Amino acid sequence: MQTNLLINGQWKSASSGKTFSVDNPATEDILAEVQRGNAVDVQQAVDAAKSAFNEWRWITANERGAMLHEVVAKTHQHWDEIAELLTLEQGKPKSENEEEVEWTANTFTYYAEMGRMMRGQVIPSGERSQLNIIIKEPYGVVGCILPWNYPLLLLAWKMAPALAAGNTVVIKPSEMTPLATLLFIEKCCDHLPNGVVNVVPGFGDAGQALAEHPDVPMIAFTGSVATGQKLAGICAPMMKHTHFELGGKDAFVLGPDADIKKAAKAVSYSALINCGQVCTSSERVYVPQHVRDEFAGHVTDLVKSLNIGPGMEADTDVGPMIGAQYREKVIGHVEDAKQKGATILTGGGIPEGKGYFYQPTVLMQVDHSMKIMTEETFGPAIPIMGYGNIDDAIEWVNNTPYGLGATLRSNDPKICKRFFEEVKAGTVWINDPLTDNYAGPFGGMKMTGGGRELGEEGFTTFMETKHVHWDFSDEPKDWWLPYH
Ligand code: NAD
Repeated sequence: MQTNLLINGQWKSASSGKTFSVDNPATEDILAEVQRGNAVDVQQAVDAAKSAFNEWRWITANERGAMLHEVVAKTHQHWDEIAELLTLEQGKPKSENEEEVEWTANTFTYYAEMGRMMRGQVIPSGERSQLNIIIKEPYGVVGCILPWNYPLLLLAWKMAPALAAGNTVVIKPSEMTPLATLLFIEKCCDHLPNGVVNVVPGFGDAGQALAEHPDVPMIAFTGSVATGQKLAGICAPMMKHTHFELGGKDAFVLGPDADIKKAAKAVSYSALINCGQVCTSSERVYVPQHVRDEFAGHVTDLVKSLNIGPGMEADTDVGPMIGAQYREKVIGHVEDAKQKGATILTGGGIPEGKGYFYQPTVLMQVDHSMKIMTEETFGPAIPIMGYGNIDDAIEWVNNTPYGLGATLRSNDPKICKRFFEEVKAGTVWINDPLTDNYAGPFGGMKMTGGGRELGEEGFTTFMETKHVHWDFSDEPKDWWLPYH
């Protein structure tokens, strides 16, 4: 198992000699001791990436595309190995991790081709003798700082377009989940020139050193709002380009016409995949008041039928949470709701035995005085609230500082159109929650951050714009001076 830092093509120990433990959230056993990178290692990684950039940016887009396709081919060869390690360190069921590896490979395929197709634009010039060109250029070294919930997918959404655009990268994986990232880079990216991809596992101090480094003009970050705010404070005075994908509190609304049995299945899925640890998890559910109890009954029956267990067991539906402190937060939200009058229809407890498990929990009698309806819970909880008319539901969906996603189940076109026009969120799903599309931009509004990953926007975000104004005539122009 790879546990070292990757700098300039060399796997090496951390300069401090320190390591940190990565555990299996299903058993709490230590999986590995990983080298803990710090500012000194970040300095070396940035030096390597900066030097590699001078060559990588001039390699033809065709060659870069071919190398990114090779990443995909190697990912297919190591598919199972990567999905297994991801399951062991992250916790979600292996089938979900197999999908994560597949989406990772597909992201590389998508950007390998997009990189071959785009470098800018020619615009109409002011005079016949002139040519005006808009060139898209790579920034240089891009710092990629990652969370633990989709370690590889969220890496691919940054790394693939950044490399395709001609940048080099320094990756700081989450301290909770560095192992699958190291394996992926070791097995699938070993043909890339030295220094193009560097990995410094470690904690927040390593991420901060990356953000503070003057030779890193762009930071691409996915994580919490609190860390995003710290990074914004570092990057803004240095005028760095930032790409932030932060937290959410997505709502799921059942339109008055929705089939409640089908909706119950959709809600259970969108609230519980990855044990509710998805930035776009449905964290609050609004249903017409007159069907609330019946709908909640269907959701409860479904949730009770799910198997909780280690992600490596074939019949597991819901794995453990990533760690004790994250589970504490969910417990706090559920307790707060209970104290304020919520009813627990199922769950609300910790199963016996080891691992950071928490029973998927369905709550009713909830309102907006409760944390579980207003703050990001990031766990397996489904609070269900009734609404009198759809105006209230749409107002509630928007009544949050976040703006990542929102889901509606309805076949009433008038309600659908109102919903997607009035809801302030980066993605609106109608009838099919949480689905990504490589060609469709993904990201948030408001406190979720303004970046977009995937699609063309997710590529051009890793390039800056230069306008070239070129005149081919030797005739003097009317260059104003002297005025007399
Ligand atoms: P986090 O903010 O705690 O950590 C994310 C990364 O930032 C880690 O690599 C961490 O080591 C690093 N970090 C911590 N402090 C830092 C500092 N001061 N300077 C630089 N780097 C620092 O987030 P997390 O707990 O790993 O992830 C969960 C959060 O991520 C949730 O809020 C979730 O909503 C969000 N998320 C958002 C999206 C999205 O696309 N919008 C996707 C997935 C997760």
